[in-house]
Order: sequence, then C-alpha cells, then structure tokens
Amino acid sequence: MTSVLTAPAQSMSGSATTVRGWSAKKLWAALSTRVYLPACSIAGIAAVLVVIGWSHHWGGAAFSQSLTSLRVVIVGPLTLAIIGVFLVTERVWPAQQRSLFARGYRHDLLLTVMNVLLVAPLVTALTLSFVDVMRRSAPWIVLPKIGTVPRWGAIALIFVAMDFCNWLAHYANHRFRMLWRFHELHHSQEDMNVLTVFRTHPLIHVSYLVALIPGVVLLANGVLSLTMLAIYGGIVAFAHSNTRLGFGPLGRIFVSPNFHRIHHQLDGPQDVNLGFALTIWDQLFHRAVFPTEETIRTETGLPGRPLIVEQAGEQPHHFAVLVRQLLAPFRSANDLSTSPSIRSRVYRPEQQSDQTANDGSARVLLAARRPQLEDVA
Ligand SMILES: [Zn+2]
Ligand SMILES: [Zn+2]
Repeated sequence: MTSVLTAPAQSMSGSATTVRGWSAKKLWAALSTRVYLPACSIAGIAAVLVVIGWSHHWGGAAFSQSLTSLRVVIVGPLTLAIIGVFLVTERVWPAQQRSLFARGYRHDLLLTVMNVLLVAPLVTALTLSFVDVMRRSAPWIVLPKIGTVPRWGAIALIFVAMDFCNWLAHYANHRFRMLWRFHELHHSQEDMNVLTVFRTHPLIHVSYLVALIPGVVLLANGVLSLTMLAIYGGIVAFAHSNTRLGFGPLGRIFVSPNFHRIHHQLDGPQDVNLGFALTIWDQLFHRAVFPTEETIRTETGLPGRPLIVEQAGEQPHHFAVLVRQLLAPFRSANDLSTSPSIRSRVYRPEQQSDQTANDGSARVLLAARRPQLEDVA
C-alpha cells in the first residue's frame, strides 16, 4: 500500500524536479542569449561588498571624509595643475594633430565628470569595504611596525608593490573575457588624451581592489599620502596623453606616453606594455615593447569597433553612446567581439558587431581609417 501511495508521489516529485530542472535550464538558456551572465558576477561582487561595508559602518572609517579624499586625488588642485601641464604638452608635442574639441576629448571629459560625481562614491565604498573585510578575516595580514624600515622605505615599497598589483589586475583584464568586457571601453579610445585615464567602466574597479593589499600589509609602517596618490595618478594619466615623449633612458623604468600608446595600438597585440607607472613588470614577464619611430604616431582603438564609439556616425550622441558603452559588458555572449585575445585573431569585416554592421557611415570611416588589419599573433 505504502509503495502504491509513495510511488506516484515519487514520480510526481521526480517529474516536478525534471520540470523545475528543465525550466531552470530553459530560463538560463533564454537569459544567456540576451545577457552575458558572467559579467553579472562582477556586479554581484560589487553589490555584496557595498552591502557588507555599509552594514559594518565602513570598518569605522568616515565615508564622506574618504570620499572627499578620493575626489581630491581625482580633481584636487594638484591633480588639476598636473592635468593642465599635460594638456599644454599635448599641444606642444602632439603624437597626432587633433582639434582640442575632438569627439574623443569631449567624451572622455563626460566620463571624467561621471567618475567624480558617481564613480567616486562607488570606489570609496568598495575600497573601505574591501580593506575592512581583509582586516577582519585575516588580521595577521597587517605587519607590525618594523623598526629597521624607515617610513619612506615602507612608502616606496607600497608604491612599487601597488604598481605590480595593478599590473597583475590589468593582465587579468586582458586574459579573462569576463573582465575584458569591462576593460574594452578603455581600449576603444581612438583619440587618446590625458583624460582617457578616466575612460573606464565603473565596475572594472572591482578587479583593481587587489592593489590595496600592499597598503594594508604595510599599514603600520607607512601610508601613501594623497599627494603621492595624485602623483601616481598623474603618471598614469600622462601615459595616456597625446604626447610624443619617450622619457629617454628613464623610459626604461617609467611608463611614457610613447610606451603606453603601444598598449592601445589599433593593429598590434594589446596585451603588451601593461604597466601603470613602471615598465619593469612588462620587462620581467617579457611583455615590454619599447617605442620606435613607427609606433609613436600609431592609431589606437579596437579593430572593427566591437564597442560603440563616439567617433562612429554623423553625430557623436555622447550621452546615448555612454549609456550603451556602460551596458555593453552585459551584452550576449554570442557577440563575436567577446574574444579576450582581441589582437591574436584575423580581423574580418563580417565579424563586425550589429552596431558597425548596421552603420554605413561607421563602415566607411573604418574603411578609410583602417585599410588593413591582419593577424599579428
Ligand atoms: Zn589594457
Ligand atoms: Zn590605457
């Protein structure tokens, strides 16, 4: 009797599981065709960190004070002065002759404003939360004060280690498709300029949280000041400027505009010259390509424009383009532009995304601008 009663129940339960499993599979498949789900995990990590940080009162740190400090680093007097000098050098020694009101410049200015107003609070939240989680889950990570190490020595060590962590995160951005989706926006710039440093997707900062670790480890021995962070940011910003400068012998140690331009090169492998401030990591891992006369004025951007850019079309439509660029990491995985090794495949016009394929003017622009793109792997 029991078996008679239980058998249908098991069968029903089994079929319910099957139905549920089938539905889940179908739902997943339907979602996958519309959304690139791995990108959602990055958004998920950011959301979890924000909630944890908020619920733990940001580890005791004053959120608004930290936000102000970050904004000082981004647009404080020192940073503005540094950027002002770089804007002048761009005009004096330009790598490419370009109007001061080029579309790329206006678009990166829009991204800069977005960073100051909207991204800075997110980065502050992620930073405070990440540091708090690290200090609570692994308190041993903070080294005690080492008497033999002077403060300036600890700060120099943090600076170098932070730069290495940024190199690692940047390498991961190029190595893993999920991260590349967010990094792609940075590489889409065809009018490189000093503000291109701000041309980043807000969620890419999740991958760079690792660069906070050296500062936490050496917390008791020295702390990077806002001035030092502004100078570091200035070095990274200058590397993006439209300036024809290689730094001479110092270019073997510090990332120059000529060196970083190769990283953004339109028809070259972009997983080289990944360094932020120092070139030593690229040399150590055999990824350094030093500039030559040919590379100084090279075109930048992404072959085939897999991501919508402000340079395409009759009008730039900056706001609409920006919204599409921010949503782009979540677009379907069926999109052929998702290859992380973007420079190791043959460029074929039929591989253009819907945006460029449907945009006649963009295609004409591409044909005029990029006569030949080939495999350089
Ligand atoms: Zn890159
Ligand atoms: Zn760059």
